[in-house]
Amino acid sequence: MMRRVLLVEDEASLILTIRDRLLNEGYDVEVATDGESALQLARRRIFDVILLDIALPKKNGFDVCRDLRSDAVHTPVLMLTARGQISDRVVGLKLGADDYLTKPFDMLELLARIEALLRRSRNLAGANADTFGFGDVQIDFRSAEVVRNSSPVELSVLELKLLRYLIEHRGAVIAREELLDKVWGYEAMPVTRTVDVHVSSLRQKLERNPSRPEFIVTVHGLGYKFLG
Ligand code: CA
Repeated sequence: MMRRVLLVEDEASLILTIRDRLLNEGYDVEVATDGESALQLARRRIFDVILLDIALPKKNGFDVCRDLRSDAVHTPVLMLTARGQISDRVVGLKLGADDYLTKPFDMLELLARIEALLRRSRNLAGANADTFGFGDVQIDFRSAEVVRNSSPVELSVLELKLLRYLIEHRGAVIAREELLDKVWGYEAMPVTRTVDVHVSSLRQKLERNPSRPEFIVTVHGLGYKFLG
């Protein structure tokens, strides 16, 4: 699977250098040149790593990092900065950055740090990505078994597919249309209401309080988001 990197940097020469090198290494790269567009991109798509400059137009890297984490986007963040002060490093790590690299840096060093972050996030996701737990729920997607408080929960095939899609894109807002397309694969007459009905059923089965969901949440006017 191709790894997707979001490069947030406003210095044109550095963008070129980093982007070209990452593309050569087989990464898929998207670039944002200011803090606002970085946030927009990171909310819309799932990235495997975010390279985040600190001094940026519109919104600085610290604020971007803090906003991402408060939106429950847990993508590993590697902060890049020209400043080498310990305080920057501490602030960045406190705001949820995973690592820190001071400019100027060697490209090999950058690549090694990216690989380390990818390894770490894979390990966190579990050696076996076919299982996932949240709240009092444990899911084994391979055997299609869902257990809640040690009791089995019956999910339909569509409910399981829907849940898996939401979990795989956790932290991102997903539109009903996207869910219909990816989970149902409708070609004829998509009815977004279908998604709502299934989400509601999942909440009944998995949420502690289905009318105040903690995990499968509604983002008004936009769609759904899995938190967990
Ligand atoms: Ca900069």
